[in-house]
Amino acid sequence: MYVPLVLTTFLDRAAELYGGKTAAVDGERTVTYGELQYRVNQLSNGLKALNIKKGDKVAYLSPNAVEMLEGFYGVYQLGAVMTPLNTRLTAEDYEFILNHSESKVLFADKTLFKQLEPILGNLTSIETIILHGEEADTKTAIGYENWLSGFDGKWFDRVEVDEHDIASLLYTSGTTGNPKGVLLTHRSNYLHALSTMHHLRIRENDKMLHVLPMFHVNGWGSPFYYTANGVTQVMQRKIDPESIFNNIKKHKISILHMAPTVLNMLLEYYHLHKEECRMDHHVRIVVAGSAPPPAFIEMTENELGWEFIHVYGMTEISPLVTTSQITSNDEHLPVKEQQRLKSKTGYSLIGSEVKVVNEAYEEVEKNGTAVGEIVVRSNNVMEGYFKNPEATAETIQHGWLHTGDMAVVFDNGYIEIVDRKKDVIISGGENISSIEVEGYLYQHPDIVETAVVALPHEKWGEIPHAVVVKREGSSLTEEDVIAYAREKMAHFKAPKSINFVKELPKTASGKIQKVQLRKQLWNDSDKLVN
Ligand code: ATP
Ligand code: MG
Repeated sequence: MYVPLVLTTFLDRAAELYGGKTAAVDGERTVTYGELQYRVNQLSNGLKALNIKKGDKVAYLSPNAVEMLEGFYGVYQLGAVMTPLNTRLTAEDYEFILNHSESKVLFADKTLFKQLEPILGNLTSIETIILHGEEADTKTAIGYENWLSGFDGKWFDRVEVDEHDIASLLYTSGTTGNPKGVLLTHRSNYLHALSTMHHLRIRENDKMLHVLPMFHVNGWGSPFYYTANGVTQVMQRKIDPESIFNNIKKHKISILHMAPTVLNMLLEYYHLHKEECRMDHHVRIVVAGSAPPPAFIEMTENELGWEFIHVYGMTEISPLVTTSQITSNDEHLPVKEQQRLKSKTGYSLIGSEVKVVNEAYEEVEKNGTAVGEIVVRSNNVMEGYFKNPEATAETIQHGWLHTGDMAVVFDNGYIEIVDRKKDVIISGGENISSIEVEGYLYQHPDIVETAVVALPHEKWGEIPHAVVVKREGSSLTEEDVIAYAREKMAHFKAPKSINFVKELPKTASGKIQKVQLRKQLWNDSDKLVN
């Protein structure tokens, strides 16, 4: 018998088994799973009245909030496609994504919506705008609560949805170029959720805090596996360490996901306010991605007592592909060694096959030094990029998704990311990892932030160049940094030139855009070193 793996079944199950249990907490507001399903039905009925049909795109511009959770299931019940917007984009980015995605309805938080005002006249597909909260109707937008109350929530006549239908259209971070629209099916999101709930050992009595933005793929998949298990999900609207610690304490949070930058902020806050941060319950795990340094992991586990799980993923894979949990093979290692192991990106999740291959498409030797590209074959891989068949064909080849991330593999099967393919510097035939060079430079006390990129060079092809943000008041010079680098690392890896800037260009999710730096530097002929 064929049972389609559709995402709405997660909420159906929760409403049946955990109907009276708190599903979500958002500030002072709490919603049970039964109430959530009622509101979701109202939303689906409301969207149907707006003539939203299977396959239509519905955009969301929202912080982590109950309304976002309602959107997930309310949109899917219709077979429509949820398209979340990053809340920190420019008006031009919003115009691009809303028009490119052909979104028909936009749900928005009132404050965030203000960012769209300059481009409202340029939107080509949006028919209706609905503002979350108790907003009164305006010329351009409808108030959500009033609108929702006009629809029945006891019942929604379900649209038939197949697991191969598209559920989400998510835009990548735009670290290496323009954001690309990634199409993910119900099946890929569903199987990703099953695999992740196993790896994170999710249980009914867990309480989770949505710190990672739910609009970004890192935070995107989690409502599915928390809902399926009847977990209480607390919304972290604002990213500041005091409020995160308060929420952890108040709601007895047992699991949370976050970016290493937020974790770093929490650790700093903890060091200054140990007494206030003390709590009478146990946080079970913290999940983080993006190559956290071993020192973070040590502090998190030793000082806070939270188990650290390092994950690797990308929008194109729903997103998680690897996790670095300790298996029985490595349990005998001293704790410090285990923590070092967790700073690597780990091994594949159930349901994903991961290989590291060279240009001849052979798997690289598992010796921790041979570098290749990570390729993935998985139930969680995207259908393709929306309206971009060229990029899809370039990314999915021979049934494998090419991640563009370069890595080494160790004899125990652990994978470690070395760099993005586009960021590797090839100098005199040697490959230099920009991440490795940055790691050394970060050890300098006057370097606050740095990005290392290739500069064209007549003799060597390319040379490493460092763009540096120095500590305020520091008298650090180009010569100082070069001399420091030559002391710390092999000479061919040490940056040959430096320039200082006040800040580095970043994506809305805080990733440094080396592509922008290369563009600026490569156009700047003075910087072409001979
Ligand atoms: P774009 O594709 O638009 O250039 P992006 O690749 O940054 O943007 P995302 O899908 O948000 O968009 O990020 C995925 C990328 O983030 C991965 O390909 C990888 O380079 C990086 N990444 C994710 N997790 C880790 C990790 N644990 N360690 C190192 N890098 C990571
Ligand atoms: Mg990418």
